[in-house]
Amino acid sequence: MLPAKFPGDPLPLVEFKASEVSHIALRDVKGCLSCENKPCTYICPSQVYEWEEDTLKINYVRCIECGACSKVCPTNILWQYPPGGYGVTYHY
Ligand code: SF4
Ligand code: SF4
Repeated sequence: MLPAKFPGDPLPLVEFKASEVSHIALRDVKGCLSCENKPCTYICPSQVYEWEEDTLKINYVRCIECGACSKVCPTNILWQYPPGGYGVTYHY
């Protein structure tokens, strides 16, 4: 077992390693402006999607690979797993 990163660490077996390349992209960036409820911004448990002015920022390094965003926005979000060795690793 990996050592806890801090006292009470709830995820001592989970490791994150961010790739330099995003594993998340948008098909149509401008389409987000007319997206009615912008569900990506509240469905993501890790707050990856965030609006700055009128631009949707994708903080992909925060992604925990739950897959929820590609379910609520299958037509515009292009999501794939990070390249091998990057992203979330679960140690058993
Ligand atoms: S990524 Fe999808 S859900 Fe998010 S604002 Fe754009 S169109 Fe809407
Ligand atoms: S896969 Fe999950 S954690 Fe990653 S961006 Fe989508 S909703 Fe957020």
